[in-house]
Amino acid sequence: MDANAPITQDVQTIPRTLPEGPVNIVGLTRPALRAALIAAGTPEKQAKMRVNQIWQWVYQWGVRDFSGMTNLAKTYRAQLAEHFVIEIPELVTRQISDDGTRKYLVRISGGHEVEVVYIPEEDRGTLCVSSQVGCTLTCSFCHTGTQKLVRNLTAGEIVGQIMMARDDLGEWPVPGAPKDETRLLSNIVLMGMGEPLYNFDNVRDAMKIAMDPEGISLSRRRITLSTSGIVPEIARTAEEIGCQLAISFHATTDAVRDTLVPINKRWNIETLLDALASYPKVSNSERITFEYVMLSDINDSDEDARRLIALIRGHGIPAKINLIPFNEWPGAPYQRSSNNRIRAFADIIYKAGYASPIRTPRGEDIMAACGQLKSATERARKSRAQIAADTGLRS
Ligand code: SAH
Ligand code: SF4
Repeated sequence: MDANAPITQDVQTIPRTLPEGPVNIVGLTRPALRAALIAAGTPEKQAKMRVNQIWQWVYQWGVRDFSGMTNLAKTYRAQLAEHFVIEIPELVTRQISDDGTRKYLVRISGGHEVEVVYIPEEDRGTLCVSSQVGCTLTCSFCHTGTQKLVRNLTAGEIVGQIMMARDDLGEWPVPGAPKDETRLLSNIVLMGMGEPLYNFDNVRDAMKIAMDPEGISLSRRRITLSTSGIVPEIARTAEEIGCQLAISFHATTDAVRDTLVPINKRWNIETLLDALASYPKVSNSERITFEYVMLSDINDSDEDARRLIALIRGHGIPAKINLIPFNEWPGAPYQRSSNNRIRAFADIIYKAGYASPIRTPRGEDIMAACGQLKSATERARKSRAQIAADTGLRS
């Protein structure tokens, strides 16, 4: 950065002139799209209306070609096509589990790949979205944590995952048809690869588009962001996104949490709980989900269950405790707690007055369950490298 550049309060990058090459509309915030349209010749007076129209075509009807935007004049459509594109990540492979779970491998610019998981349930369908390629954190029970961070995803690549899944599910409505309220893709969880709060701005912009009535139009109650506990960003999440919050808690003492979720050394349990206490009020959400991975003989004793309750109650946090049976991956240093142990743990929590659902692992046969992501990409890459080595080629 130029050291002499003026200090500016303008934290959002709003283009005043168009950069070289076409601009991708997907992922631009309303103000950013407005500014880009004006820079490309749209009269200022019309810009707001054009943003609404274009958003509806892109996010509600799934249109990827300006020529399909039939309520815009032909000359204007041609003008848009000159300056803009509508691009989403490319689908590379799709695996479907015996239980209906779908795992997608998508390619983003630079040739990087991330995984996205769709989990159908009786009354809803949840898309598990990634926010980074890899993760900078190194939680010892998480497969993604063994992969170094490659890069943050852009807002367009995050919203693009939702659009890609709607493509695959054949879920875009047909213009003129009655509005169907029961969506195949009804919920979003930011629980794929990466730590969403270390990519705050892009995650925020993407979720704003997901929640906007002119955008993907999902209620903020149907969007859950999961974080390992990046304390300074929790208050911002409440203020600037306002979605549901899940916290990867996983331990009831700092000594154990330090080994499972090493970011605990930076922001320990007390600091984290203090930050969480004000979340529901500020974001106007009912309660926080505490995620707790069940690891045999590590964090699953009756004493742990009682300590967990005391911590949550002591801070007056409205909470639900989601127990996650550990999902194994090759070389994982832990074992899943027995079903009896998990049930006993859940029972103590439930009797203390908190909901304690046990998460059913989904898509295990295709390595799509929580914390198993990354494997397919890495394995494929290794085998390609292996093939190259075997055949004497360079990859
Ligand atoms: N980085 C964010 C979101 C992605 S992980 C976070 O850590 O919250 C989504 C959830 O899966 C987190 O609660 C994470 O702790 C949990 N998880 C990771 N690896 C797991 C595994 N092997 N088995 C079960 N849950 C796991
Ligand atoms: Fe990163 Fe979340 Fe995995 Fe920890 S649990 S390594 S924060 S993806």
